[in-house]
Amino acid sequence: MKSNNIWQAVLGEIELSISHGNFITWFKNTQLISDFDGEIIIGVNNIFVKQQLEKKFIDNIKDILEKNGVQVKTVSFKIQNIAREDTDTIPDNIIEESVENNQIDKINKTYQPLTNSLSHTYRQGLNEKYTFDNFIVGDGNELAFAACQAIVSQPGTRYNPLFIYGGVGIGKTHLIQAVGNYLVKNNNFSKVLYISTEQFVQEFVDALRFRKTADFVSHYRTADVLIVDDVQFIAGKEKIQEEFFHTFNALHQANKQIIISSDKPPKDIPTLEDRLKSRFAWGMSIDMQNPDFETRCAIIKIKTSEQGIDLTNDVIEFLANNIQTNIRELEGALNQLLAFCEMRQLEPNLAITSSLFSSIKTRPKHLSSRQIVEKTARYFQIQLDDILGAKRDKDIVVPRQVAMYILRSELHLSFPKIARELGRKDHTTAIHSVDKIEKESKINMEIKKAITEITEKLYV
Ligand code: ADP
Ligand code: MG
Repeated sequence: MKSNNIWQAVLGEIELSISHGNFITWFKNTQLISDFDGEIIIGVNNIFVKQQLEKKFIDNIKDILEKNGVQVKTVSFKIQNIAREDTDTIPDNIIEESVENNQIDKINKTYQPLTNSLSHTYRQGLNEKYTFDNFIVGDGNELAFAACQAIVSQPGTRYNPLFIYGGVGIGKTHLIQAVGNYLVKNNNFSKVLYISTEQFVQEFVDALRFRKTADFVSHYRTADVLIVDDVQFIAGKEKIQEEFFHTFNALHQANKQIIISSDKPPKDIPTLEDRLKSRFAWGMSIDMQNPDFETRCAIIKIKTSEQGIDLTNDVIEFLANNIQTNIRELEGALNQLLAFCEMRQLEPNLAITSSLFSSIKTRPKHLSSRQIVEKTARYFQIQLDDILGAKRDKDIVVPRQVAMYILRSELHLSFPKIARELGRKDHTTAIHSVDKIEKESKINMEIKKAITEITEKLYV
């Protein structure tokens, strides 16, 4: 095999073994430079990727190379300037946009920022409680954390925009707020703006209503750093998407850092304009996952120590073991426990904790995706082959969608993984299925019952 083909084969295998976000982030622009006498050199396009590959993926790469018949003595990474794919797609648009931006410049000079007029009604900006110091790094969030660290060292120049996506309550807001707080504190940036997309939309609507759009425009387009949280809420709102598109361009062209969070990757946000999808993909997209057990324990420790409370390890481990949905719920349970004990003047201990949370079933350590798929098939009395197969009959499709939903809700698998578990190539199917069942379960009692009963069976 030619080196290029070998590397493509390696990439193909790696893509299957890690999440889509990780793959794009770390492997998208890599190439095999040379493999002379077992000394493999892989080209990467920056130091950050180099460090991550060295730290996290080198053994994996070695194994897969060997599996593909390459003799490997050493693997090393070399930084080279690999042309960014996206730059190829820019020119046409840029002409149009720079005209628009000239107009914006004029607007900027003429109008006062929105803060003087409208935005005082909104709680804008950063919450100091979210810092890097109180963010625990572990499996599930370390890539996002590393990218944020890279950004604060040189805002606007790398990973612009940074797009972080993942389920609820796993620390996205904490992390992107930490970037903002850090920059305000350490880099003397005059204008770091954090805004939730809901606020952004609301302000825009008000600006339209009170004929203050120019203020609005100017306020956001003069940011040094713009952090936009939960951008999925922009879906279906055409006018604001248009406005955001221009804001994005103005900031990006001026090398101002943009950070965006969402519950799904840009391409999977329904009714998001293609031009925004492509803008969001310009920089780096990273998915965040629910942290592992050790990280969850460390998070409980930091949250309690912030309140001057010291919990015993057995209590911490019980909570981390039993509340696995996300960190927000974990924190909720912790606060519930502390409130319960405080009101009764008790010291929190394992007996109290386990009785308080006894209704929560302990997840068996080895609950696997396959078990979920099997139990779903059994519940609906269909064959495993059918649920995994190609049939499109309704009595197969619905169980398949339910299985996807449970894989997401119980194991928090990424959408590509969910798709793979059900024998699907295209992960958008998984996204639609999970969305659909989530909505259905609120109105369709049969679906709701199926989910409850299958989920209960997983834990007996
Ligand atoms: P998301 O924006 O992803 O829905 P948040 O950032 O609001 O989640 O996180 C929910 C809660 O969990 C917050 O109180 C946050 O401080 C906490 N949290 C999440 N991840 C971590 C972490 N790695 N270290 C410390 N606290 C965390
Ligand atoms: Mg959030």
